[in-house]
Amino acid sequence: MSQPLEELREQLDGINHELLKLLNKRAEIVRSIGEIKDKQGVPKFDPVRERAMLEELTRQNPGPFKDAEVKHIFKEIFKASLNLQEEDHKQQLLVSRKKQPENTVIDVLGTPVGGGSQVMIAGPCSVESYEQLRTVASALKDAGVKVMRGGAFKPRTSPYDFQGLGIEGLKMLKEVAAEFGLATISEIVHPAHIELAEQYIDVIQIGARNMQNFELLKAAGEANIPVLLKRGIAATLEEFVHAAEYIAVNGNSRVMLIERGIRTYEKWTRNTLDISAVPLLKQETHLPVLVDVSHSTGRKDILLPCAKAALAAGADGIMVEVHPEPQVALSDAAQQLNIPQFQELWEGIRLSGLFKEA
Ligand code: PEP
Ligand code: MN
Repeated sequence: MSQPLEELREQLDGINHELLKLLNKRAEIVRSIGEIKDKQGVPKFDPVRERAMLEELTRQNPGPFKDAEVKHIFKEIFKASLNLQEEDHKQQLLVSRKKQPENTVIDVLGTPVGGGSQVMIAGPCSVESYEQLRTVASALKDAGVKVMRGGAFKPRTSPYDFQGLGIEGLKMLKEVAAEFGLATISEIVHPAHIELAEQYIDVIQIGARNMQNFELLKAAGEANIPVLLKRGIAATLEEFVHAAEYIAVNGNSRVMLIERGIRTYEKWTRNTLDISAVPLLKQETHLPVLVDVSHSTGRKDILLPCAKAALAAGADGIMVEVHPEPQVALSDAAQQLNIPQFQELWEGIRLSGLFKEA
C-alpha cells in the first residue's frame, strides 16, 4: 500500500531541507578553499579534482539515479560552487562596484570625471612642435575643452616610425597647458618615467600596448596623479579590470578606464569599438569609463555617431585626436581631425544633449 501523498510530500520537504543545509555547508567549505586558492594564486577551476570527485560519486552510486544523472546534478553543484568562489574573488577587487557602490570621481585640474558630467579630451596623437600644440590648445580653449592629450613617448608598431619627442614633448605640454589653462594627459611607457609625469603632466596615460605591463602598472600605482588606463588591443574586460586593480592595489585609486577598440576581423575600422564595455565596466567597477573614438574607429567620418553611442551607453567622457594639419601628422595621420572638423564634431556632441558639462 502506498503511503498517502501528503505524508510523502512531507518527507520530500524534509529531505529538501536537509539537502539545502548540506549544500550550503558544502558552499562554506568551497568558500574557504577559494580563499586559500586566492592566497596561493592558483586557479579556482580544477578539472582533475572535479573528475576524481565525479568518478568517486558514480562508483558509490546505489541508484535509482543513473550515473549520467548523478554526474549532471553534481556538475551543476560544482558550477555553482565555482561561481561562488569567483563572486567572492570579485568582491575583493578594490575597483569593483561591490567593494565601493558609489562612483569614483576624479578631479583633473578642477574638472570632475565620473561624477555624472562628461569630459572631452582632445589633442594631437603626438606632440610635434610648440606651434602645433599651441594651435590645438588655442582651439580647445575657445571651444571650452579643458583637457588636452598629446603623446610624447609613442609606442609605435615599427621602430622606424616617429617615436615621439620624449621629455621635450612633456615640457612642451606643460608650458602650453599653463599658457592656455588646460589640463594634460600623456602616455608614459616606462616605470622610471612616472616621476617625470608627475612633474610635467596632470594625468598619466597607460596605452593599449602596455595594459598588462605589470611593472608599469605598479609604478603608476605609486604615482600621485590620476591614471587613464586604455583597454589592451586584445584584452577581455576581466583582464582590463584586473590591470586597473594593479594600479589601485599599489596605492593609486584615481584610475579612469578607456575603451579604445579591440582587434577583430573587421577591416572597415582600425579596431572594433566595443560599446558593451561601457555599461559593463560601469556595472562592475566604480571607476570613470571613457571612450576613445579615434583609435577605436581609426576614421574621421563616423566619430559623431560613435561618440553619441558611447555617451548614450553611459560613458563619462570622450577622447578624440585633433591636429592642425592631419595630412602631415607624424603619427595616426589618417584618423586625426583638423580643427574645423573637431569643432563640427564637438557641436554635434553638444547638440545631442548627451553631454553634460561639469
Ligand atoms: C594614443 O592614445 O595615442 C595611443 C597610442 O592609443 P592606444 O594605446 O589606445 O593605441
Ligand atoms: Mn594616436
